[in-house]
Amino acid sequence: MIKFLDLEKINNRFRKDFDEKIKEILDSGWYLLGKNVESFEQNFADYCGTKYCVGVGNGLDALTLIIKAYGFKEGDEIIVPANTYIATILAITYNGCTPVLVEPDINTYNIDPDLIEEKITDKTRAIMPVHLYGQAVEMDKIWDLAKKYNLKIIEDSAQAHGAIYQGKRTGNLGDASGFSFYPGKNLGCIGDGGCVTTNDKELADKIRAIRNYGSNIKYHNIYQGVNSRLDEIHAAVLNVKLPYLDEDNQRRREIAEYYLSNIKNDKIIMRKSYSDKANVWHVFPVRTDNRDEFQQYLKDNDIQTLIHYPIPPHKQECYKELNKLSLPVTEEIHKTIISIPISPVMTDNEVQKVVEIVNKY
Ligand SMILES: *Cc1c(COP(=O)(O)O)cnc(C)c1O
Repeated sequence: MIKFLDLEKINNRFRKDFDEKIKEILDSGWYLLGKNVESFEQNFADYCGTKYCVGVGNGLDALTLIIKAYGFKEGDEIIVPANTYIATILAITYNGCTPVLVEPDINTYNIDPDLIEEKITDKTRAIMPVHLYGQAVEMDKIWDLAKKYNLKIIEDSAQAHGAIYQGKRTGNLGDASGFSFYPGKNLGCIGDGGCVTTNDKELADKIRAIRNYGSNIKYHNIYQGVNSRLDEIHAAVLNVKLPYLDEDNQRRREIAEYYLSNIKNDKIIMRKSYSDKANVWHVFPVRTDNRDEFQQYLKDNDIQTLIHYPIPPHKQECYKELNKLSLPVTEEIHKTIISIPISPVMTDNEVQKVVEIVNKY
């Protein structure tokens, strides 16, 4: 069986270091927001090239707290791709703001930068590009628009740790960025975790307080905060794994490159990548008309797949007010997309077998 993602194999590479670190933390008796979190925040900020990183409980909180810290509220509009994981949209609506959905480019699956300007109104406060499936959004036009209309850029980098666009990493391509360290992400911990990266000191300080009940000094609450802290164990695990992220991403690129050159089947459409470094291949999505049949075929041949995602956010039951929107490109992608296995621990044999089976379909 070729697993979609073998998390045990991914993490077992670091097992000795994890055991040591976890023992140290147990012995220290200090489990939250301690020296492991502090050093990870420094290491990840350095990695992204930003001045600040604030560890939080998960990726959804990271995005939600950025919007909260900016003070955006009811009536404020935030421009966001229609083709995204629902967390991006939830971060907006939790703050009472209105998501303004923009169609993706059918070739890259990322937000189509040419369709953004027509959606900007005097209520627009921010643009939220999502580096979906690991590929950095083409930011040029978004930078221009943000400047022209005085908007914040809030990146959703939950699927693109380490992707590089024009010499800068995701997390450093806007005003603030949310990351997730959910176990299956390119950089994942052994539970839930997330962080915010930014160069804005005021914003970083505010989120640092908000994640911990809104206080910098114990029992002095300057904001109505939340509890969204990063655990010492997760920070320690992330510190062990971070030095290997670029290597892992490089292996993902190698596999993607192999798929792109060797998958030859008229029924399978592959994603367009505009630059090698910009894509860290969080998943390898392909599109096909008879997706269910294709998925069953792969399953019968011992290849696990996943669908990212089967239902677009605007068609979800929880967003009745968005259900009537017509977003044909997004809907087409959700109807036809399927992710085949890609991960840093796949063997060459497994990669070749995937190609062989896909080509025979
Ligand atoms: C995973 C993910 C999130 C949310 O991260 P969690 O840690 O699961 O809360 C947000 N946006 C995107 C695009 C994601 O893939």
